[in-house]
Amino acid sequence: MRILIVEDEHRLSNIIKKGLVEDGFAVDQAFDGEEGLYLAETEQYDLIVLDIMLPKLDGLQLCKELRRENVKTPVLMVTAKSTTEDKVAGLDSGADDYMTKPFSFIEFRSRVHALIRRSHQEISPVLKVDNLEVDPLKHSVKRGGKAINLTPKEFAVLEFLLRHKTEVVSRTMIVEHVWDYNFDGMSNVIDVFVVSLRKKIDGGFPKKLIQTIHGVGYKVDN
Ligand code: CA
Repeated sequence: MRILIVEDEHRLSNIIKKGLVEDGFAVDQAFDGEEGLYLAETEQYDLIVLDIMLPKLDGLQLCKELRRENVKTPVLMVTAKSTTEDKVAGLDSGADDYMTKPFSFIEFRSRVHALIRRSHQEISPVLKVDNLEVDPLKHSVKRGGKAINLTPKEFAVLEFLLRHKTEVVSRTMIVEHVWDYNFDGMSNVIDVFVVSLRKKIDGGFPKKLIQTIHGVGYKVDN
């Protein structure tokens, strides 16, 4: 899953980025409102972390503009403003949740995961297909109750496939949601990850969960 942080305090932005990257997210940063709006409109994010007080374009205007353009990406506002009026203004601009600085990363992380779940209409924090269980909060994968070890990127690819289970997902979609802006490889790098994922997930099981849809991409299905 890929996150955009729009925050002009470089230090805070870098701390949030570090925590999210350690949690397996692909993360891009924008340091003013205009850059944030541009990235939010042109790239594919699963969540936007948005400060209110920003140079060039403030977070409230940015959020309103995104919603006006029908960009549905969940927005978590993070700001030093803490009055009820500020929170109401944030949510009324189209944000989905609101946190006041300073905040604990543990709470922030829980909210990030909850917002992403909600945007995919998922009720359980554990993603399931057949006897495969993927827990994004614990970074654990089990098939038939047996733990499977994945690299962070293998995990991210599998998580994306499960969040779109029963849908055909193209290689480009996977790249756009699993790698950050600096990725300059080819989308066929995905094939390499899928080969190793298949060995670990489907190896030894008669039922194969990761299907190749020729000329299109991949699908995970029951
Ligand atoms: Ca600020």
